[in-house]
Amino acid sequence: MINESRRVFIGFGGNMGDVEATLMEALFAIDEIPQTTLRRQSAIYRTPAWGNTDQADFLNGVAELQTRLTPNILLQKLLEIEERFGRIRQQDERWQPRTLDLDILLFGDDVINEANLRVPHPHMHERAFVLVPLAELVNDLEIPGQGSLKDCLAKLDISDIKILE
Ligand code: ATP
Ligand code: CA
Ligand code: CA
Repeated sequence: MINESRRVFIGFGGNMGDVEATLMEALFAIDEIPQTTLRRQSAIYRTPAWGNTDQADFLNGVAELQTRLTPNILLQKLLEIEERFGRIRQQDERWQPRTLDLDILLFGDDVINEANLRVPHPHMHERAFVLVPLAELVNDLEIPGQGSLKDCLAKLDISDIKILE
């Protein structure tokens, strides 16, 4: 059976190395994933680190894809691209500096709660560095379980999310 095509939003970011170049090349690589097309991308934003704040600022953005892959296969492809661009994961250490981070934010309207994949991304609704670029791509949308993008965004401080000049 051929899967139907789904609209997916990916959060991309990094804070090690030549991040701007890495993000641009990573978007090319995403467009080359089989059965997947990069539709649009937001501007790139400079944002303070979230969660573990004692590290360099990040560059972040959001991309819209169309894919016929399953969520798990898409995740696997994104993790491969992270590795290709030098991502090293320390076991048991969260929110460390990284060359590239690619998160699945939304996969159509799917709600997925598996050990290695949770969609909507469990922190997206509380991250200005995700919702500001996402709002550039869509007027409004429902984040399953969290309400509208507009309402989530209204609760956040967006003053330190700056478009990269
Ligand atoms: P956060 O997920 O809070 O943004 P992080 O991006 O630093 O933190 P990672 O170390 O990149 O976390 O990812 C750890 C694991 O999270 C991945 O190996 C993946 O299996 C899992 N994961 C769960 N849900 C998602 C998702 N929606 N998108 C990407 N990875 C996810
Ligand atoms: Ca992340
Ligand atoms: Ca991640």
